[in-house]
Amino acid sequence: MSRTFAIIKPDAVQNGHAGAILAHIQKAGFKVLGMKLTQVSMPQAQRFYEVHAQRPFYGELTEFMSSGPSVVLALEAEGAVQKWRDTIGATDPAEAADGTIRKRFAESKGRNAVHGSDSDENAEIEIAFFFAGTELVG
Ligand code: UDP
Ligand code: MG
Repeated sequence: MSRTFAIIKPDAVQNGHAGAILAHIQKAGFKVLGMKLTQVSMPQAQRFYEVHAQRPFYGELTEFMSSGPSVVLALEAEGAVQKWRDTIGATDPAEAADGTIRKRFAESKGRNAVHGSDSDENAEIEIAFFFAGTELVG
């Protein structure tokens, strides 16, 4: 078993899709180890997406991610990182496969409903960024 980190982003929460996305997560076979509703601050968004600091979309991305409440999640499954990337689909919903969360719920490449970690190492870093160990179930 391994872990990944997910965010139901502000667009999806604002549009009332958090419940449907949670249902999708559970139907796909993930165990939810941690979950909370939080409004990401601008400094948190800037640190979380630091790897993209030089990209042209960084300002828009950090504004968007701090614009309203998100649901942050620690998920467990066999091969959790790849399984979750497969479940959410491509970054741009226009390229996301049918049945994926981004295909169903994303508005655009920027406002794309969900986040997913890109490696086991980053999954652990991102889980620790948002959760204390005591906030995760065993
Ligand atoms: N993003 C964007 N424009 C782009 C690429 C990315 O607005 O051209 C945003 C989008 O919200 C994406 C996030 O930046 O989810 C992080 O980009 P990344 O390439 O890591 O995509 P992801 O891993 O989320 O699929
Ligand atoms: Mg990424």
